[in-house]
Amino acid sequence: MSHHQKHTSFILISSMIFAFTMLFCIKNNNAISPSSEQEEVASAIEEPSFYPTTTESKYEVIFAKNPTYISNQFDFPVGKPDGTNYFKAQEFGESKHLGEDWNGIGGGNTDLGDPVYSVSNGYVTFAEHVCCGWGNIVRVVHKFPDHPEYPYVESFYAHLDVMNVKEGEFIQRGQLLGTIGTADGKYSAHLHLEMRNFIDMGVGPGYSDDTFGFLVPTDFIEKY
Ligand SMILES: [Zn+2]
Repeated sequence: MSHHQKHTSFILISSMIFAFTMLFCIKNNNAISPSSEQEEVASAIEEPSFYPTTTESKYEVIFAKNPTYISNQFDFPVGKPDGTNYFKAQEFGESKHLGEDWNGIGGGNTDLGDPVYSVSNGYVTFAEHVCCGWGNIVRVVHKFPDHPEYPYVESFYAHLDVMNVKEGEFIQRGQLLGTIGTADGKYSAHLHLEMRNFIDMGVGPGYSDDTFGFLVPTDFIEKY
């Protein structure tokens, strides 16, 4: 056998060993992967600091551990509980509005700094300043097991002057979450309120033809 032939045989044998090894690995991997995944999930549920990655299962864990913050009813966020001394300057759907603008009956900035309350028990998922006309926004996810269609809804409070809660806090119905503001002086003071049945969407445009995921806040709050 020449040196060249030896070299070729070596490569051939090496390739065959490699191919068999790969075949064995693939077969073996297919056989063991489902059970190892199940084991991972099982151990994850026992691990208290772990939250599953999908939105709903994350909130299942959060509310299962804090059942006193599950919603049983909804109130208006200003003039609690029924909106006394406030009116809606712009309704949902008016000029493609995705929320309701709540103003004090005094008009202008007479409601600047008035308290804004959580519409129900829930979990604060967002409390940040957002640029370009939004101002401070607080978002709360509510677990509402009594609803026939929406096990979770979200309330969204924008243009706030002050925020009194932080992301990751639990909140009760009627608890102060912030005050009415002007979105950094862009508007006369009012609360922009959204209610959503599709939770954890982006902040959104405020106005749109596409109302997917949005509820009419007053209709929902009055019903529940
Ligand atoms: Zn608005």
